[in-house]
Amino acid sequence: SRKKPDLPKAAYYERIGNSKVFVFKSSINSTVFSQIIGNDKNRKNDDSPFYTVNLGTLVSKFQEWQREMPRVKPFYSVKTNNEPVILSTLATLGSGFDCASKNEMNMILGNNKLTTPENIIFAHTIKPEKFISHADKMGINKMTFDNEEELYKVKKFHSNPRMVLRINVSDQTAAHKLGAKFGSNPITDAPKLLKKAAELGLEVIGISFHIGSGATKEETYGIGIKYARDLFDKGLELGHNMTLLDIGGGYPGNDTDEEISLQKIAKVVNTALDKYFPESGNYEIIAEPGRYFATAPVSVTANIVSSVEIKAERITKKPTDSNITAYSYYLNDGVYGTFACKVADFCPTISSFPLFPKNNQTQYISAVWGPTCSDSDLIEEQTNLPHMEVGEWLYYPYMGAYSIVLATDFNGFERAKGYYCIDEKSLQYIKSRKAAKSDLLSVLF
Ligand code: PLP
Repeated sequence: SRKKPDLPKAAYYERIGNSKVFVFKSSINSTVFSQIIGNDKNRKNDDSPFYTVNLGTLVSKFQEWQREMPRVKPFYSVKTNNEPVILSTLATLGSGFDCASKNEMNMILGNNKLTTPENIIFAHTIKPEKFISHADKMGINKMTFDNEEELYKVKKFHSNPRMVLRINVSDQTAAHKLGAKFGSNPITDAPKLLKKAAELGLEVIGISFHIGSGATKEETYGIGIKYARDLFDKGLELGHNMTLLDIGGGYPGNDTDEEISLQKIAKVVNTALDKYFPESGNYEIIAEPGRYFATAPVSVTANIVSSVEIKAERITKKPTDSNITAYSYYLNDGVYGTFACKVADFCPTISSFPLFPKNNQTQYISAVWGPTCSDSDLIEEQTNLPHMEVGEWLYYPYMGAYSIVLATDFNGFERAKGYYCIDEKSLQYIKSRKAAKSDLLSVLF
C-alpha cells in the first residue's frame, strides 16, 4: 500500500562553490525534496544517511527577519551551521557574520571573500592571542569582551580594536544559559570595564548581550536594551564613541513553537529600540542569530538498519504496558552524527516521520536509536510511528542548528551527506541582491 511518490523534477542545476544545487521551477517543499533524494538512493541501492538544505526556506527566513526587525542587521552566527552554501547565500542577501575563531573568520574572508571585514564581529569574549593578531591581519576590528584581562591582550595584539562590551542578560528559562560563562554584570562590573578601557586608550563602540540559546522569554531583550542604554550613557561620559548595539542570538529556529516567535520578540525589540535607541540617533543595531536561520532549511533522513518488535513496557517503563506491541528502530545516523544536537541539548523538538508514508497505518509506541554502541545514542526515547521495515527511511525536519557542525565519526559510522535545492524565484531574488551590492569582493553566486 506504499503511495507511489509523484515527485517533481529539478529544472536544472546551479554550481554554488563546490555544491551542486537542484533548481526547481516553483517553490519546493523540503519533505518533497528529501523524497526525491530518497527515491534516487533507493534506485541506486544506496542507504547512506543524508540531509537536505532548502535555500528557498533560508531566503524566506531572511525576508521575515527584515520585515519584522528592519532596524536590526543580522550577523549570522557561523558556529550554528557552516555549510558554505548557507554562508554564501546569507552573505549575498546582506547578512554580516559573528565569527568565534580563526577558522570561522577564514570561512568568511578567506579564499571566497564572502563579505568585507566591517560585516564581521569577532564575538567571543575570550580570545587566544593568535586569533586577535589574525583578526587584525584580516581587518576585523569589532570584538566583544567581558573582562579586564582581555583588554590588555587586545591592546597588545591588535592595532585598531573597536571593542564591544558584553553584558550578562539572561533568560533563566533558556536551554543554554550563557550567562554562567560569558558577560559582565551590567550594574557592578560593566561601568568599571568601560572606565578601564578608557584608561588604556581602547575605544569601546557599543554593548552586546545574548539572552541564551533556546530562550522563551522575549521580554529579556527589552531588559538588555535598557541596560545597554544606561551603559551607552556611561560610555559617552567617559569619551567612548558609543554607536553599536548588538542584541545577540536566541531567536527560535522552529516556527511551530508557540511559546516564543520572531514576531513576539520583534514587538519587544522594536518598542525598546524606539524608546532607547531612536532612529534619529544613527545607531548601528545588529544581532547574532544562529538557530533562527539554520534550523528550518535543513532536514535529515536516515535509513532503518534494524526494526525490532518489543513490548511497550521497555519504552514507557510502565509494567501495565507489558502486553502492548512496540518497536525499537536502529538508524544509520545518530547522536554522534547529525543528531549531535540532541546530546548538546540544542534540538529539543526532534521528531520523525516516515519519508514515504503509507495509508491508514496503525501507530505503535516506538524508540529510535542511532547506530553506535553507546547507550546514549538514542534519538527519540518515545514516539509514535507506523511499523517500519529495514531499508525504509525516517525523516526529521528542522534539523539545521548545532547538528552537522557537531557530527563525529565515532564508531566509524559514515557522516550524512548534503543535498541542496532552491526554487527559481528565490534564486532570482538572491541574484538581484547580488547585483545591488557592488561592495562585495566576490561571492559564490
Ligand atoms: N552569538 C554567540 C556569542 C553565541 O555564543 C551563540 C550561540 O551559542 C549565538 C550567537 C547564536 O545563538 P542562537 O543560535 O541561539 O541564535
